Amino acid sequence: MSLGICWTSSEVAPFAKTGGLGDVSAALPRYLHRVGHDVRIFLPFYSSIDNRGLDIVEVDFLRHLELDIGLHRTSFSVFTTPLPDSGLPVYLIHCPALYERSGIYAGGDDDAVRFSFLSRASLLCCQHMSWSPDIFHCNDWHTALMPLYLKRAFSWDQLFQNSRTVLTIHNIAYQGIFPERICDQVGLGEDREFLYQDDLDAGILSFLKTGILYADVLTTVSPTHALELQTDAYGMGLQDLLRQRSDHLVGILNGVDYGEWNPATDRVLEHHYSPDDLSGKQRTKLAVTERLGLDTDPRLPLLGVISRLTAQKGFDLVIEPMRQALGAGRIQLVALGTGESRYESAFQGLQDAFPGRAVFHRGYSEELAHLIEAAADIFVMPSKFEPSGLNQMYSLKYGTVPIVRRTGGLADAVDLYNPATGEGTGFLFDHFSIDAFRRALAFALETYADPEAWKRLMHNGMSRDFSWDRQGALYVELYRRLAGHS
Ligand code: ADP
Repeated sequence: MSLGICWTSSEVAPFAKTGGLGDVSAALPRYLHRVGHDVRIFLPFYSSIDNRGLDIVEVDFLRHLELDIGLHRTSFSVFTTPLPDSGLPVYLIHCPALYERSGIYAGGDDDAVRFSFLSRASLLCCQHMSWSPDIFHCNDWHTALMPLYLKRAFSWDQLFQNSRTVLTIHNIAYQGIFPERICDQVGLGEDREFLYQDDLDAGILSFLKTGILYADVLTTVSPTHALELQTDAYGMGLQDLLRQRSDHLVGILNGVDYGEWNPATDRVLEHHYSPDDLSGKQRTKLAVTERLGLDTDPRLPLLGVISRLTAQKGFDLVIEPMRQALGAGRIQLVALGTGESRYESAFQGLQDAFPGRAVFHRGYSEELAHLIEAAADIFVMPSKFEPSGLNQMYSLKYGTVPIVRRTGGLADAVDLYNPATGEGTGFLFDHFSIDAFRRALAFALETYADPEAWKRLMHNGMSRDFSWDRQGALYVELYRRLAGHS
């Protein structure tokens, strides 16, 4: 039986994206629609959306609808366009007073109003469509008030009486914390008794915390992260609350779009390859090292890094061990990323110290990201925390053996190589320390020196399946349980 799923998010690629949230908000609904569910996405019609080439039409019966922001009545209209590579409708909430800003996020109290409006406007649209979704799927703090709106402001409407709510936490570091006085502006002026009282006493309202209290089910983007979120080390202050709701907290690893990330079909690659014929990988390594000005020595393992360069990503652990390995002539390195200047300088320092062996490309480049995934032998991802992570999964598909810290989605996607059995897909370390990374690197280099073992390791990783077909099916199972369809 087909499910009705209302998806609300502040980001949906390609319309509006700053990170993984935008990707998931396109890929998962696309999968759900493809397997026959009635999915409708609601997104602000940001003035920054590039609408050239898009077929966007105004929805006749969703014109000049009204909602109150505090004492002010605000009018909005709705436009629709199909999600690219899918027929599913995206509904764009057009309200220039709120969404005419230079980017997706404006910052400050403005965002509390802008995103609470998205939740309320989506519910109003469902009413005008006479649509009762089985599931309202909210994402991160931006749409986390939706479960409470359903329980309060919209509870009079029988239309939603069987609807259930799912809130996915993509990144708990962002919680949507605003001054308590915002309650009136976001339509909760009459509902203060339903909010977290300690916070109100402290003069604040947390969108995410409210969502955690009221959503029927909470999910996050990997099973390991679902456990981590309940600990002091990772819960960012919400661990107690999440522990109380642990029976309703589920982790589902994000999926990979193999239409984009597959070495057999990759649009960026000149030399394609597959597990049966890896020669294209060698040729790509040669071409890429030449292009980047590295010495061409096919025997040396090429280490790859593609990342935002922030403390979260763990590069404090790798610079010294890499310097030693480069100095000893045991590795080559290609790093791509931008972020905090201390990490940019550290990678630049490696390039300066070891010309021909290390290269750092400061910036964001989709093309280079694909080339590095294909050319490198080893991918380095030593994150301090990683709710899901994508590059470790891309790397497995590209036969680029990952070295990762055992956290979040890295722990769930990579299995430690066991030389005795030949099983496993990569190298993991537990402690967030330079020595732990050094040992993992040494183990990887030792294994690389045995070509048969390495080939097996590559094959093991390349045969893993992290497609949305697999991961999306887990969401459908969850929705069905929640909607009482199973
Ligand atoms: P996060 O969302 O925390 O940045 P993820 O691994 O979930 O980490 O997703 C990051 C995505 O952004 C990956 O697809 C990665 O390839 C891409 N990316 C990050 N930095 C760059 C860069 N400098 N150039 C190209 N792609 C990048």
